[in-house]
Amino acid sequence: MSRTTTTSSWKKNIGRRLRTRGARSREGTIQRSGYGVSVEYRELLGLDRAHVWHPYGPMPGKVAPLLVTGAHGVCLEVAGAHGPATLIDGMSSWWAAIHGYRHPVLDAAAHAQIDRFAHVMFGGLTHEPAVRLAERLVELTPDPLRHVFLADSGSVSVEVAIKMCLQYQRSLGRPGKRRLMTWRGGYHGDTFHPMSVCDPEGGMHSLWQGVLPEQVFAEEPPAGFAAEPDPAYLQHLADLMERHAAELAAVIVEPVVQGAGGMRFHSPAYLKALRELCDAHDVLLVFDEIATGFGRSGELFAADHAGVCPDVMCVGKALTGGYLTLAAALCTPKVAEGISGGEVPILAHGPTFMGNPLAAAVANASLDLLTDPQLRGGTSWREDVARIESALGAGLGAARELPGVRDVRVLGAIGVVQLEREVDMAAATDAAVAAGVWLRPFRDLIYTMPPYPTTDEQLAAVCRAVCAAAQASTEAALSRS
Ligand SMILES: *Cc1c(COP(=O)(O)O)cnc(C)c1O
Repeated sequence: MSRTTTTSSWKKNIGRRLRTRGARSREGTIQRSGYGVSVEYRELLGLDRAHVWHPYGPMPGKVAPLLVTGAHGVCLEVAGAHGPATLIDGMSSWWAAIHGYRHPVLDAAAHAQIDRFAHVMFGGLTHEPAVRLAERLVELTPDPLRHVFLADSGSVSVEVAIKMCLQYQRSLGRPGKRRLMTWRGGYHGDTFHPMSVCDPEGGMHSLWQGVLPEQVFAEEPPAGFAAEPDPAYLQHLADLMERHAAELAAVIVEPVVQGAGGMRFHSPAYLKALRELCDAHDVLLVFDEIATGFGRSGELFAADHAGVCPDVMCVGKALTGGYLTLAAALCTPKVAEGISGGEVPILAHGPTFMGNPLAAAVANASLDLLTDPQLRGGTSWREDVARIESALGAGLGAARELPGVRDVRVLGAIGVVQLEREVDMAAATDAAVAAGVWLRPFRDLIYTMPPYPTTDEQLAAVCRAVCAAAQASTEAALSRS
């Protein structure tokens, strides 16, 4: 891992990754989209390496990224030293592109709004796309959530949710209630307060000691969506709440699916328990549905599995179908009235791009597309997600037999293969790309959450790619040892 990658091995790496054996190559795609295959391709990647910081990476990067030149349907077009390739996107651009790319309904909404206006400030002004979006979100989410704060990214919506909770408690004359409780294994974003409620190890809390507020952590929820709730764990939650009630403003968790913290699923019964405990101790409950929202887990929102309504809920990622950055924090009248009736009766937050009309217009179209079977060729999102769930269940079953595989789990349109050791990123992504699929593993996890229109044939290819990536990763690890 600590081996430094020289420029020449970096270049070799690009070549190796783009030799895309199994991937279909489409002659001429690169020229059409305006990139010269070799010259511009090399120049762009050189400039990328020199100047561009990529997610969770060092500067300069160690592994060359793939250069995307186009995207349509559920596929990405990538340029390669050896010609272009078409890859099925097994990641939905990190949970976001639920309808795939260049969807005519979403493209049309973006074009129509840009011909009206792309952006105006939200202070003192309003506009139809934002008003309609707020109305839709209130309609779709659990009932008492009635007020919507539009934010410009998931992390910011979590910041706003936390600010709402802390201010609510202050407004009610309980300034001592200023800590948050969560469970280990979570992920809530990369800005500082959200980081403080990420898993302490995954979130590198030791690096940030003295900087991050210290929150209250319960153990990881026991694994398994369908598992019976563990009485000992329920007691653990109750004990922790009781011990810290006087200093807790809110509990914040990802309901049912813990995403970037470890791709773990848990019983909805724990959410019911949290709701009861929060009510008993005057603690607010926040659900972070940024990854799970809009059907991904098999219900429209993961909270629906539990029939529980939080006091505050965050949505993001798939909100605009992956077109533009937009998120929202929704709250109940109780929270809004608490804040607005307090000593400082305003919520002091207002991003420059709050309620961006272009993003809101695309979000409205994405919600139309999600909820109107007519627009989706006759099937409901629920049927699509159920179809993906059974295809992933069938196709990833083979991974159980592979050496080095610890666990295989599927919920809704999410499939996870967990290895016994850290994934060899280069080997795993090479194998997936060779199988014609884009995957981005992390830690010991090779996972997929495909766009909803992914066909059965494409899903089979995604499953083969996940299995190939798992196998290649284990082989690479064995050949090193
Ligand atoms: C991605 C994610 C976030 C952060 O959203 P950004 O838009 O990346 O800031 C927060 N919470 C959860 C559960 C997420 O999956």
